[in-house]
Amino acid sequence: MAIRNIRELGDDTLRAECKEIKEMTPRIKELIEDMFETMYEANGVGLAAPQVGIRKRLVVIDCGDDPLVLINPVVLETSGSQTGQEGCLSVPGKVGIVTRPNYAKVKALDENMEEIIVEGEELLARCMLHEIDHLNGIMYVDKVEGELMDVDYDED
Ligand code: ZN
Repeated sequence: MAIRNIRELGDDTLRAECKEIKEMTPRIKELIEDMFETMYEANGVGLAAPQVGIRKRLVVIDCGDDPLVLINPVVLETSGSQTGQEGCLSVPGKVGIVTRPNYAKVKALDENMEEIIVEGEELLARCMLHEIDHLNGIMYVDKVEGELMDVDYDED
């Protein structure tokens, strides 16, 4: 396993439309392990492949429950609304207010390429939708209400 370099806002890869993964390979297995390690090292709750320079439809998430691998994720359903603070490992030191659905139902493949359905509310819904946006070249800064704010590290 290895820590990968996280691309930052302004990097072309973050604006790319990512490609579907057709089969599990040793390289993708390694990528998944590296993405978890990179995310945990950076104290993140989600990371998308383009954030480490790979234009593939793959995200990893850990909002405190079980670690999730979502390959080729598709949003099936959303409802409600939540407005709250959001940040991104590709926009270090900043946060902003973003309104997203409060509930999301997502279909994806897991690391065994088996279909899974994940339903989430609040943080998990926000996280899944944020990460899936990355696969379409969308960043939260595109959706932020008002200005980006500096992270107040004293609160950590
Ligand atoms: Zn992000």
